[in-house]
Amino acid sequence: MKTIIEPFKIKSVEPIYFNTKKERVLILEKAHYNPFLINADDVLIDLLTDSGTSAMSSNQWAGIMRGDEAYAGSSSFYRFEKAVQEITGMPVVIPTHQGRAAEKILFTILGGRGKYFVSNTLFDTTRANIEFSGAEGIDLLCEEGKHPTTPAPFKGNMDIEALERFIAEKGGENIPLCIITITNNSGGGQPVSMANIKSVKKVCAENNIPLFIDACRFAENSYFIKLREQGYAGKPVSEIANELFSYADGCTMSAKKDAFANIGGFLAMHDKELATKCRNLLVITEGFPTYGGLAGRDLEAIAIGLKEVLDEHYLQYRIRSIEYLTNKLIAAGVPVMQPAGGHAVYIDAKKFLSHIPIEQYPGQALVGALYTEGGIRSVEIGSLMFGKYDIHGKLVPAQMELVRLAIPRRVYTQSHIDYVAEVIIEVFNNRHAVKGLCIIEEAAMLRHFTVKLKPII
Ligand SMILES: *Cc1c(COP(=O)(O)O)cnc(C)c1O
Repeated sequence: MKTIIEPFKIKSVEPIYFNTKKERVLILEKAHYNPFLINADDVLIDLLTDSGTSAMSSNQWAGIMRGDEAYAGSSSFYRFEKAVQEITGMPVVIPTHQGRAAEKILFTILGGRGKYFVSNTLFDTTRANIEFSGAEGIDLLCEEGKHPTTPAPFKGNMDIEALERFIAEKGGENIPLCIITITNNSGGGQPVSMANIKSVKKVCAENNIPLFIDACRFAENSYFIKLREQGYAGKPVSEIANELFSYADGCTMSAKKDAFANIGGFLAMHDKELATKCRNLLVITEGFPTYGGLAGRDLEAIAIGLKEVLDEHYLQYRIRSIEYLTNKLIAAGVPVMQPAGGHAVYIDAKKFLSHIPIEQYPGQALVGALYTEGGIRSVEIGSLMFGKYDIHGKLVPAQMELVRLAIPRRVYTQSHIDYVAEVIIEVFNNRHAVKGLCIIEEAAMLRHFTVKLKPII
């Protein structure tokens, strides 16, 4: 088989600003060892997130000019609405400025004290919006998903037995929603199988619990189903996506992911009554229902992006490029999540820096080392992001200590990725020099965005 090439040509470029290791040591110190506090111009390869960082196509840029900025009834909205309806089969489409705005609306209406929201793994903004409403978020990930370096085809699956047990314990009436994240971002970008979605739907239906999909990476997940699940190899990805959404009562989506947009999101559903409540809240928080939190041009770019993402040459290249980096790291002995996920490579920092105790945030320490060594920006997904304190102020660690290298869509070429592999391997070979960190300042919620740390010497 020949090399799978980038399925695009480059029409417009952006420079990378180079700096030295010595400069980066100082930059990191000034940023309090928090990658969110580093200026983008000081980063060589930015793998902080794949959110809103995609390269738009020439067709999308043309759509930006065509965007209809009418306050009400914009033609761009109708193209956006149709694109979402064609994929999800859901009649109600509510535009929001990001995925979290869709979550905020949904959980404000359905959340509250004494309620539980069950999931495979809730993404950080989803969990934060649930907890902000007073409700509790419960992750019920399958066992395979909890072992980062053991391969399995669908490590994003929900644990069906755990779901049934949880419903029996708390009562279906206290669970307003089950929300399944595809692919499972916080659980390594691992896919969920069609069979699992069907089983979750069955359990939910028996208990009168609506099933929503956190659909940010629906196309990547659908492509994994095509590759790995029996009976789907010959089906177009668009049909697989249609089937997947057919089991759901609604979805939230960040268009900054699989819609190749720099901003945007939506909430879609079947339930007209719930939709009315959502739209009422939308008008006071986001905007009029035919633009939500977006400009007409954004709606246009999203409508086009939602079609482009289902192109199978693109998806083949996308999934292969993550696998390419993962395999290079595996060959060098670097402990990474296996198999490769859909949008990111996840390093197992607990194994990579086994000399650093969890209380000293090995993931965050690795993030710092990758930056100083090669100017690569990544993010910790571990106890800094998800850790809690017990009543004695002792850290209750997260399930895993991962470092995520998220690959922006259509942005970096194979040589960029080769460079990333070289830097990681270099740090791995000198890993004993990396030191743990302690927190000197933190916020009560989503602390990883603003936390300040310092090395333990
Ligand atoms: C990014 C993301 C969100 C939130 O979307 P924003 O557009 O960043 O607000 C929710 N869930 C998942 C799985 C995500 O990846």
